[in-house]
Amino acid sequence: MMNQYISKMEGSASMRSMQMAAELKRKGVPVIDLAGGEPDFDTPLRIREKAKEALDAGHTHYAVGKGIYPLRKAISERLQKENKIQADPEQIIVTPGGKFGIYLALTAILNPGDEVLVFAPYWVSYVPIIKACGGVPVVVPLTDKNDYKIERDTVEKKITDRTKMLIINYPNNPTGRILHQEEAEILRDLIMEYDLYAVADEIYDKIVFDGKKNISLASFPEIRDSVVTVNGFSKCAAMTGWRIGYTAAGPEITKVMYRLFEHSITGVSTFIQEAALEVFECDAELKEMRKIYEKRRDYMVEEINKIPNLSCKCPEGAFYLWIKIDTDLTSEQACEKFLEQGNLVCVPSDSYGETKAAYVRCSFANDMKILQNAVEKFSNVVLK
Ligand code: PLP
Repeated sequence: MMNQYISKMEGSASMRSMQMAAELKRKGVPVIDLAGGEPDFDTPLRIREKAKEALDAGHTHYAVGKGIYPLRKAISERLQKENKIQADPEQIIVTPGGKFGIYLALTAILNPGDEVLVFAPYWVSYVPIIKACGGVPVVVPLTDKNDYKIERDTVEKKITDRTKMLIINYPNNPTGRILHQEEAEILRDLIMEYDLYAVADEIYDKIVFDGKKNISLASFPEIRDSVVTVNGFSKCAAMTGWRIGYTAAGPEITKVMYRLFEHSITGVSTFIQEAALEVFECDAELKEMRKIYEKRRDYMVEEINKIPNLSCKCPEGAFYLWIKIDTDLTSEQACEKFLEQGNLVCVPSDSYGETKAAYVRCSFANDMKILQNAVEKFSNVVLK
């Protein structure tokens, strides 16, 4: 018998939608792909140049340890400056993408049967990864009506004596919500009172709009050692294909994560780590991309809310619209209608743990012309 946890794992809904869009494109169907979870921009030129230079300079050997020291030092300094997270370079592990960082953290912390609180709507990979690690996902539903706000009671009533940890993701995929001070304090208090661990997935933390600021859970010194912060360069620097991210955690968790890391990944490609160092010199490029996302967001929020039966809140960060569909259809059925009548590829909400009402997730990491076309198509789709 195959591994009991992994053989039963569901596939990734967003990957499925992206693959479907790619297949339709290959067949010549003029699809508008709003399913993708990645920037449409190319990686900034100077990062690409740095990778070529690094290859020519012979950075082609095994990466030893948790990652090249200059990169871990740069990450450590940025975390301190921008996220108020204190983690010295020894507490940083450079991982092949943020996703592997999440897997590493959960594998290190969980024992079979441990319960993990996951806030819905949640990113599609948390539940499968928890299950793969033998953990038991316990969903904490957050509601649109309450603006997806975290409240103490809603979380506390899901805590049992088997609860080991919680996973949060802010800025959130799919809702675009950021973590506010009051909510972060609620989580901090619960983590302390119930002696929990946490994973804070902050992969979109550089894509926050209107001058707002996402609060990093690990910025509270009282819980710093119990929190694994996961971040990376995929979204902020348009580097999804490079596969590089990192974790920052307390010394004990880092030690256990590193054991698994050494015996699985060995290290992220050295020339890619060298190139990632250049991200820290690209503040202007990153800012420019954020400004463009903000303009696209403003356009899409305004236009989508003009279309009968569709509505969405204004995301504070990331690059997704979480569109509510006022219909009797399920989210899967609504996605089918969008595809059949408008060639629009979106991701249905049930894959994000939203089962009561129908939503679709649409990415606005697309060129303005594509978004204008999408709006026109959305307004012509008959949903009844
Ligand atoms: N976490 C969230 C919330 C994401 O949306 C994604 C990618 O879609 C990831 C993590 C994975 O990031 P990476 O590509 O660095 O593995």
